[in-house]
Amino acid sequence: MAKYMIRLDDFCPTNNLKKWEPFFSLFDEFNIKPIIAVIPSNTDPKLMSCGTYNVNYWPTVRYLSSLGYAIGMHGYEHHYQSKNSGLLKINNRSEFAGLPYRMQEKKIRSATAIFKAEGVPVFCFVAPAHSFDHNTLKALRHQSPVRVISDGVLNKPYKKSGFNWIPAQLSEAVWQSTGTWTFNFHPETCSEKTFDDLRKFVEKYHRDFVQPQELSYKPYTWFDSVREFWLIQSRVFIDALKYFLRSTLSATKPHTVN
Ligand SMILES: [Zn+2]
Repeated sequence: MAKYMIRLDDFCPTNNLKKWEPFFSLFDEFNIKPIIAVIPSNTDPKLMSCGTYNVNYWPTVRYLSSLGYAIGMHGYEHHYQSKNSGLLKINNRSEFAGLPYRMQEKKIRSATAIFKAEGVPVFCFVAPAHSFDHNTLKALRHQSPVRVISDGVLNKPYKKSGFNWIPAQLSEAVWQSTGTWTFNFHPETCSEKTFDDLRKFVEKYHRDFVQPQELSYKPYTWFDSVREFWLIQSRVFIDALKYFLRSTLSATKPHTVN
């Protein structure tokens, strides 16, 4: 039987909270404890224009933490500084991947200090745009107490490189026969249909949801490394193929004359 978790990304002081409230109500109703990816010092202009400034931002984060939500360190400023897709090769933008170690170390140190000053225990690291590299992991090891990474493509929690990994594989609620799955949503941009589908899924399968803090982790084997490599590279290949087909089709499209 499969197990499920939910991760909500981009909690920051300028959220449009009306978009977040339906998620919180749903979790309350079914006693689900999600991972919530909290940005400690947001400077991302897109996220800064979502809503008005919430003066109760940190009290709200503390409240969610007191409910049993697993708080994730969602980078430091959520400000993309490189086009590096990192270890997972999902998005060509990053706040961390490709940057020198010293820069990454400073970001992790600053983020850790903010959570500490605000009295918020951090459960895991959640890289903005799923993009981070070995230097990010090294910085986390040296500058933070965080030893859980919410990311990855395998279908089970595992131990690797001194961290416990909780893969975050899907951006919608999809039934699975086996494995442990994280559904990753962005409430600021989530469509009503995606939320409705989640609600229906939760109504049906809420007993199969687990709390991230209660997971057990398996050792990472050579078979896992082959499978991980295959999953990442096949997605990179499919993305490249789609890009090629799109650009070929638009180049062969007849031009219309007005
Ligand atoms: Zn984000």
